[in-house]
Amino acid sequence: MSKQRIIIIGGGFAGVFAGQAITRLLKLRRGNTDGYHVELINPTNYFVFQPLLPEVVSGTINAPDAVSPLRALLPGVHFRMAEVIDLDVAKQQITLLQGSRRIPQSLSYDQLILTPGQRTDTSHLPGFAEHSFTLRDLDDAHALRNHVLQCLEHADITQNPELKQRLLTFVVVGAGFSGVETIGELKEMVHRTLRYYPNIQSEEINMILVQRGDRILPELSPQLAAYAQTDLVQRGVDVRLNSSITKATAYAVFEDDGNRISTSTLVTTVGNGPVQLATSLPFETHRGRIVADIHLRVKGHKNIWTAGDVAAVPNATTEITPATAQFAVRQAQQLAHNLIAELQGKPLQHFDYTPKGSMASLGNYRGVAEVFGVRISGLAAWFLWRGFYIAMLPGFATRLRVALNWLLDYFVPRNSVQIRNKPAGSAAKRLYAAGDVLFRPGQIVDGLYILISGKLESRSSDGTFLRVIKPGDHCGERSIETHHVTVGTLSALEDSEVLVLKREDFELLYQSLPVLRQYFHSISDNTYPDELRSASRNESPLTEYLLEGQEK
Ligand SMILES: Cc1cc2nc3c(=O)[nH]c(=O)nc-3n(C[C@H](O)[C@H](O)[C@H](O)COP(=O)(O)OP(=O)(O)OC[C@H]3O[C@@H](n4cnc5c(N)ncnc54)[C@H](O)[C@@H]3O)c2cc1C
Repeated sequence: MSKQRIIIIGGGFAGVFAGQAITRLLKLRRGNTDGYHVELINPTNYFVFQPLLPEVVSGTINAPDAVSPLRALLPGVHFRMAEVIDLDVAKQQITLLQGSRRIPQSLSYDQLILTPGQRTDTSHLPGFAEHSFTLRDLDDAHALRNHVLQCLEHADITQNPELKQRLLTFVVVGAGFSGVETIGELKEMVHRTLRYYPNIQSEEINMILVQRGDRILPELSPQLAAYAQTDLVQRGVDVRLNSSITKATAYAVFEDDGNRISTSTLVTTVGNGPVQLATSLPFETHRGRIVADIHLRVKGHKNIWTAGDVAAVPNATTEITPATAQFAVRQAQQLAHNLIAELQGKPLQHFDYTPKGSMASLGNYRGVAEVFGVRISGLAAWFLWRGFYIAMLPGFATRLRVALNWLLDYFVPRNSVQIRNKPAGSAAKRLYAAGDVLFRPGQIVDGLYILISGKLESRSSDGTFLRVIKPGDHCGERSIETHHVTVGTLSALEDSEVLVLKREDFELLYQSLPVLRQYFHSISDNTYPDELRSASRNESPLTEYLLEGQEK
């Protein structure tokens, strides 16, 4: 008998806790999966503990301690590092991109769990995509931390007062949990590292928190939010309520009343939107989230389940649950229970959860919390917040490391090292030996290939010879232009040196320079037969996916 295939898309709070609960309920262990195949798919091989990201930025905890390897977290679950791009409900099949060449593959499922979370979508705000920092993954935390340290280094040596003011102005948009925790940690980080920057005075630092509503922390009671605001203001944070940032440029951001704030640092914690996959699925949505029923099934679908930030889940009343880790975890556990009950022909249970409380850290050993209706603030709330997260962290070793980091942070100065990653250039040379295949049919072209020396050969999918590519010739542009996978094979006839211009950078140039577009159009028209050109232009899930990514 073939195994029941349970596929989980997304390895965040909801996906990981669902996977763990399913293996627990089915008593699956590594190497022993009985009649079930449980598989989790995620684009990275680690789980991100997002609430700790502001602390990675400030250097309170080490970056590796805010993430955990998914394979270690999920014994009994098969892990696949890939990105799901499409779902065919009728065929019970998903399409994904995997491997370094991101080759499209199909995978069938009996039960599907959708937990891909949300992303920050600022596409409606001019300049945000180019000039704002977001905080969802480790890369984001690294980038923001390095940038802030870069601003301090630069501000310490510049003789230009206007530039100095811009470098020392930090703006955070959104005063929910993540915005408040981010500004609190930024403030603490800058404050504690200033001793190393003799030319910067603390009065020169501007920390601005911008909130569209009339209070910060709408998730908490007005009293605790007021406490948090007073605390931040007393520490020198400029809290601007009933305001929003409508535009960002390389040198400034603009409030909705037209006020210009000169800054090099804009962090956005607003604009939660659906991940690209969720926008393309044929399901009912509520404000971009997939509508679930009370049993955590996607509305109208018996074998597709959903939980976490991506899901609009009704909770007891018709209210939709908020996008928090607390809810993601509870939903995942309930979902796992219901899915197994469904497979075993048992009754399902409604999702109904009342949060026990909420808390936020304000930095500087202060916090606010509301637990079982009791409001706590200051140091006690800060301890409670830390204790809660220590308990939630996956694995004893991680808990111990984070606890030690927090303890040490109290006694030793902050680390102000700016760790630079070697920048990945737009263009890089690659060497291929005679006989090497650069592309096979069905692959995504990763860039424009320009031959420097040697000889390449292009053949169609049935092996028909198409052309020889000589030094100075290029290829790959047609697949990029049509957003399609390769339809032929490209191989090296001799040892060859190739310059590869990264796909995203080539696309930017292609879109911005009409003369380049004309050039490539004429080359395409003169080089390829009609049928090959039109074959590339056929729509496919991949074409739609890539095109969608383009428009955002
Ligand atoms: C800075 C910050 C601070 C926060 N603080 C708090 C807090 O104090 N308290 C609280 O309760 N909540 C907090 N949250 C919110 C909390 O982190 C989220 O609610 C929670 O992470 C949601 O879990 P999820 O599993 O739904 O999504 P995520 O944790 O975002 O995980 C989704 C996963 O799916 C993957 N994925 C996406 N698309 C695909 C695809 N096409 N194919 C395969 N995989 C895919 C993603 O890469 C990701 O790994 C905070 C969030 C942030 C960003």
